[in-house]
Amino acid sequence: MILIIVKIHFWGAAQVVTGSNFLMEIGDKKILFDCGMFQGSRQLNRLNFKPFPYKPEEIDLLILSHAHIDHSGRIPSLIKAGFKGKIYSTQATFDLCSIMLPDSGHIQEMETEWDNRKRIRAGKSLRKPLYTVEEANDSLKYFSPVLYNQKIALDDNLSIRFQDAGHILGSSIVELWIQEEGKNLKIVFSGDLGRKNKPIIRDPAIIEEADYLILDSTYGHKFHPSLDNEAAKLIPIMIETRKRGGNVVIPSFAIQRAQDIIYELNKYYDQIIAVRDKSYLDIPVYVDSPLAISATEIFIRNPDCFDQNTLALIKEGYNPLDFHNLHFSRTTKESKELNTSPESKVIISANGMCTAGRIKHHLKHNLWRKESSIVFVGYQAEGTLGRRIKEGAKEVKIFGEEIRVNAQIHALEGFSAHADQAEIMQWLRNFKKRPKKIFLVHGEQEALATLSDLIQQELNMDTIVPQIGDHFLLKGTDEIIPIEEVEEKIQKEKQLFEEEAEQLRELMILVLEQVEQKTKEELSFEEISELRNKIMELRKESLELSLLLMTNKSRSNPGEEQ
Ligand SMILES: [Zn+2]
Repeated sequence: MILIIVKIHFWGAAQVVTGSNFLMEIGDKKILFDCGMFQGSRQLNRLNFKPFPYKPEEIDLLILSHAHIDHSGRIPSLIKAGFKGKIYSTQATFDLCSIMLPDSGHIQEMETEWDNRKRIRAGKSLRKPLYTVEEANDSLKYFSPVLYNQKIALDDNLSIRFQDAGHILGSSIVELWIQEEGKNLKIVFSGDLGRKNKPIIRDPAIIEEADYLILDSTYGHKFHPSLDNEAAKLIPIMIETRKRGGNVVIPSFAIQRAQDIIYELNKYYDQIIAVRDKSYLDIPVYVDSPLAISATEIFIRNPDCFDQNTLALIKEGYNPLDFHNLHFSRTTKESKELNTSPESKVIISANGMCTAGRIKHHLKHNLWRKESSIVFVGYQAEGTLGRRIKEGAKEVKIFGEEIRVNAQIHALEGFSAHADQAEIMQWLRNFKKRPKKIFLVHGEQEALATLSDLIQQELNMDTIVPQIGDHFLLKGTDEIIPIEEVEEKIQKEKQLFEEEAEQLRELMILVLEQVEQKTKEELSFEEISELRNKIMELRKESLELSLLLMTNKSRSNPGEEQ
């Protein structure tokens, strides 16, 4: 007998990459997964202004996979429309949303203002922005951040766990368990599936079990070059450009990509990687994007998301998101000075596809100079200024001015944040309990069709490519799990518990050594207060853990107390 039935509706990111938004009805509970903005063509953009196809006030909670706007960008609209539930995400996703959603609100306000000026001249009625900076800020109070790997009970029957997706800081694969009268159903959302060996963050977590899987297919038809040598290629470009007397301009996404580049350059500037020609060491590198600068600060505040390599650097005393010739230009004045000073430099600026932001000024000042270099490190969508330059346009229009393209154009393709076809297939091979169905989302036609065929043929797993508006019934399993399997799971969990405790022991030893060192330094009153506060928080958490450990002991051995 089947007891659990879940109805799932695909309201976005179905046969398109953007607008991630899936609704699940489990009994009388309604759970939303992601609430992203549609991005790209005018037709897609218009979808953002349509009312939600469900009643936001009836949604109990929202689970957010990561901070990218095509997954989070309609959250302020959802709240304006009546949503009052909790938003679950990782702490880093919340931190990134706290800069990205207001930034998105700012863009909405600016675009509406621009549009309304035209509408006034045309005698049309004025429009309101999708949401404002204030409304975006207001939506942040609904967040309820959690840690990676913690299993969180939402009620008696439902629990969730966020695991690393290896895509951007805080990005998650989400596992959802539904239990009723001993029956189980597990749904896994891959979110945006990332890649192994990305700088700073951990690899995508291996998931071994799912009844149903909702899978990112963005690059289901493509293969990325390896990431290892991308920064190594950048160093000779910098040296050559300086010899010519020009600048290296890098258009970059503000979140993750800019930090990836800083992290890679750090190894060369702080000489973790030895290069014979050290002449690049005095070339200054400027990060010229307020959003990228704020994001870098958020990265530094979330070291629990870092991979082993990054943590090892920190333990050795390196800050991997800084180096001796790195500069951050926050103000417009500082940004403008980059184009008036004659010295050769590297400018990392946003946005990544050159459609808006400070990067356009840097392109205007450098594209016409044969001495300069433009280095693309990310995807350039069709119709963008970045795509035209990358594809070899001889002349482009920037701020209404015709600019000759004389600079050298380079593209380093290995920095992608999405798993490619081979990486998706490799990740799927880890499933021991194979999903009954895999829903392929976040992709365009070609990617979806190619990946769907491949999964069916090579892995013999069943796939569905839903359209926007489609819904399906997911049925719970009534198989009885053999006792050996349950015991095996408990053993595995115990092993993880031991490993985590060991990591904690090592970390505490390191921290206490650092505390001893710190007390020998001269410290301000504020610095001491901040450090004391942190220690008090840690002590409270440790006491709670200690009590929990004692409680479990008496519970499992009730006889011992007598
Ligand atoms: Zn993403």
